Amino acid sequence: MSFVKVNHVKKQYQTKFSATTVQALKDVHFEVEKGEFISIMGESGSGKSTLLNILATLDVATEGEVLLDGKDLANIPEGKLAAFRRDHLGFVFQDFNLLDTFTVRDNIYLPLVLAKQKLSIMEERIKPLAKQLAIEELLEKHPFELSGGQKQRVAIARALITQPEIVLADEPTGALDSKNSEEVLEMFERINAEGQTLLMVTHSALAASRSSRVLFIKDGRVFHQLYRAGKSHEE
Ligand code: ADP
Ligand code: ADP
Repeated sequence: MSFVKVNHVKKQYQTKFSATTVQALKDVHFEVEKGEFISIMGESGSGKSTLLNILATLDVATEGEVLLDGKDLANIPEGKLAAFRRDHLGFVFQDFNLLDTFTVRDNIYLPLVLAKQKLSIMEERIKPLAKQLAIEELLEKHPFELSGGQKQRVAIARALITQPEIVLADEPTGALDSKNSEEVLEMFERINAEGQTLLMVTHSALAASRSSRVLFIKDGRVFHQLYRAGKSHEE
């Protein structure tokens, strides 16, 4: 059984001021194995955000299903969605979404604080993470004191501290220059090498080239896949 299964997903939007509909996803079908690092590329309007929102349980497919570890995301009751996201998914954003009034340490702890986790668990988990992401020296600083690359490494630590099944990253290098992007991509490769499953939406071919597989989406469909090893096949 695949870790993530996107099973013939379609998504139709009702537009606001007219009776017309937009078919944002037409028949998206792919599977992700545990430990893969997937990139999703496509032009603006191709359906990337829609797909990411469905995987993030922020939206539901109109047809088809999305399974995470065998669990159909559409079956999670509304009241349990926030907890599900917190316990099973990690999020990394383009603009970091760090809170400037808290220290780096407290930013990283925040998801566990919200989950009412014990401080001893937080302390235990932050150590190896801070080492892995090379942010040990930054823990008592505040986000506004950091470079973009450092901020994103902190955001990755925050995403990982809940030990999520999958990390969903939305344009994680979109706000970074090439040096800082490189720094962040290296960390993604590193955490993936440790077994973390990752799915990243990106406009950057350079960023995508660091993943194990790239899915190209166009007009609501996956039209091509590239494998890092050089294998390629048509959908
Ligand atoms: P918000 O973050 O407040 O939802 P959005 O800009 O995402 O703001 O969307 C506001 C509303 O506009 C949505 O609920 C949707 O109905 C509509 N909308 C958003 N994007 C599009 C689009 N590309 N085409 C048509 N309608 C859209
Ligand atoms: P991308 O992230 O690749 O730019 P999106 O998933 O945002 O693409 O959009 C795919 C299509 O769905 C576009 O045609 C967009 O206009 C439309 N769309 C996205 N969100 C909404 C919405 N809330 N309401 C109506 N149409 C939307």
